Amino acid sequence: MPAYTVPVPRYWRRIGTYYRLEASRCRNCGRVYYPPRMRCVCGCKDMEKIRLLGGKFQLIDFTVLHSVSEDFEKQKPIFVGIVEESSTNVRIITQIVDVADVSDLEKSREVEPVFRVVKRDGNVGIICYGTKFRPKIVG
Ligand SMILES: [Zn+2]
Repeated sequence: MPAYTVPVPRYWRRIGTYYRLEASRCRNCGRVYYPPRMRCVCGCKDMEKIRLLGGKFQLIDFTVLHSVSEDFEKQKPIFVGIVEESSTNVRIITQIVDVADVSDLEKSREVEPVFRVVKRDGNVGIICYGTKFRPKIVG
């Protein structure tokens, strides 16, 4: 039986999060959550859906993974970063792509979202897509 990181039905329900960077914002206190939550820490359940595309994305910190699971063997080394969206200050843990060498990355560098394949299951033919980030190309 194939092993999925996230089962397909659950992945399907989260497509807005993975494809469109949808987050939730509390109508009471204004906290923003990514991935979205149904209830805020203030106790409020009145959450609105927003997209995290209002500001710039900045790389806060990053690491390089040289030892990865079998599913990601072809992609290694994998660059994983914490990215902050400036209009909400929401932080996202994400894969940083289009990086040839770790010297391409530096803290505070602006990055941008890109739509990429996250996982393929050749046995079943399922391809899961999602948002990753890459260093923003200047010019
Ligand atoms: Zn709240």
